[in-house]
Amino acid sequence: MTDGLKSEIKSFEDVNCAEEKIFYQAMEEVILSIAPLLESDSRYKEYAILERLVVPDRIIKFKVTWLDDNNHIRVNTGYRVQFNNTLGPYKGGLRFHPSVTEGVLKFLGFEQIFKNSLTGLPIGGGKGGSDFDPKGKSDFEIMKFCTAFMTELHKYIGPRIDVPAGDIGVGAREIGYLFGQYKKITSSYEGVLTGKPYTFGGSFMRPEATGYGVVYFTEAMLAYEKKDSLDGKICTVSGAGNVAIHTIEKLLQIGAIVVTCSDSQGSVYDSRGIDIELLKSIKVGRRGSLKEYIDTHNEAEYTPVGEYEDGAHPVWNIPCYAAFPCATQNELTEIDAQSLISNGCVSVSEGANMPSTPEATALFLQHGICFAPAKAANAGGVAVSEFEMSQNASMQKWGFERVDTKLKETMEQICKRVALTAKDYGVENNYVDGANIAGFKRVADAMIIEGI
Ligand code: NDP
Repeated sequence: MTDGLKSEIKSFEDVNCAEEKIFYQAMEEVILSIAPLLESDSRYKEYAILERLVVPDRIIKFKVTWLDDNNHIRVNTGYRVQFNNTLGPYKGGLRFHPSVTEGVLKFLGFEQIFKNSLTGLPIGGGKGGSDFDPKGKSDFEIMKFCTAFMTELHKYIGPRIDVPAGDIGVGAREIGYLFGQYKKITSSYEGVLTGKPYTFGGSFMRPEATGYGVVYFTEAMLAYEKKDSLDGKICTVSGAGNVAIHTIEKLLQIGAIVVTCSDSQGSVYDSRGIDIELLKSIKVGRRGSLKEYIDTHNEAEYTPVGEYEDGAHPVWNIPCYAAFPCATQNELTEIDAQSLISNGCVSVSEGANMPSTPEATALFLQHGICFAPAKAANAGGVAVSEFEMSQNASMQKWGFERVDTKLKETMEQICKRVALTAKDYGVENNYVDGANIAGFKRVADAMIIEGI
């Protein structure tokens, strides 16, 4: 790394604060990866691309006031980070979770710029959400919160401006309520949100897209790296939400044996293979606890979060051929990476956004693990969101097969783009650097053409 780059990172860190730590983690990874590109082309420095990319176009922060079922007034904070629209309308999910802060959304929005760029589709990067906790809320409370949230958000979004989607805590139910309120306020039926239920403008396969896409990417990467496919192989997955469930489902469809899943309270290890229908019945819609899994399968093991030793996550202690962290950021640490490597793991694919800590990622790369970073591996969700935007704009409905075929092609193209970019820049087999360079280059070149 050049001295110039080092001081550039240092100057970003100087303005760092605890709340934004996660954003700086994401930013540093990108800056370190793109060093060879910056050194090979002086235009990026001349046009101050880095300085312009690390600051969002705008951050909208607003109060969300709603009435709970006891008629008590409740107040939350809502956000929309409109990060960069060089390549198309701002695009990225909404997260409803008590851990949401401006820093978390800046991290997610920043990652989204490069992820969306990698798809090759006309979409910019954004992210939003609220510190509202949907857990334990009634359906009416969720509806009232979503209505209040959209009453403010609608001023800033539009099908050619900013098109939010779901993320943690925001699924088809929440998108339905948000869309209903947008329509009521604007009297306009337009594709302003993706992840809508199929009955009113949703695309086939949007719920499955991220998880299925992760598996398509992994198969493409393993083929490129001349490793065995996932058929018949033991796989471990963390999480039990939308991404985890559909990753497990696709893995099972292609003949893999998935033995784990987890939620925020604990983990399940079922050596005979996760029962996907049971998992869905616990999690989809009612978001129950994974502990219920062993009521049906008492041969499976359940480990509550409090019993994790040394901060190690039990899912990553299980020997596997391929691992799929699909829950949340920084869930897979150095100690977990060490266990996976010692147990002979061949590939790690990030379904969640940045689930591996920088130390874990460094270990995977050092040990030659096929490592698929989130911004490449989980881009299938946003790709199908863009397909939904296309269908809405042309008032068409595409069939399941058509969307699935396009998703698979998109994931294979992303894999090829990332692998070839890594090779071109002298970091062959490093999918982290390949994804960051390819994602950055498309946005940066467009920024230069568009002017300041
Ligand atoms: P869901 O809300 O459907 O599921 C999240 C899962 O992760 C749940 O099982 C939840 O447990 C668990 N979880 C959440 N927070 C924590 C935590 N702090 N510690 C341990 N477990 C936790 O979200 P998604 O599946 O949609 O999202 C998962 C990840 O994938 C996120 O990183 C998201 O940004 C990313 N992603 C999602 C996309 C999508 O299309 N949905 C697209 C691209 C990326 P519990 O059930 O107990 O709440």
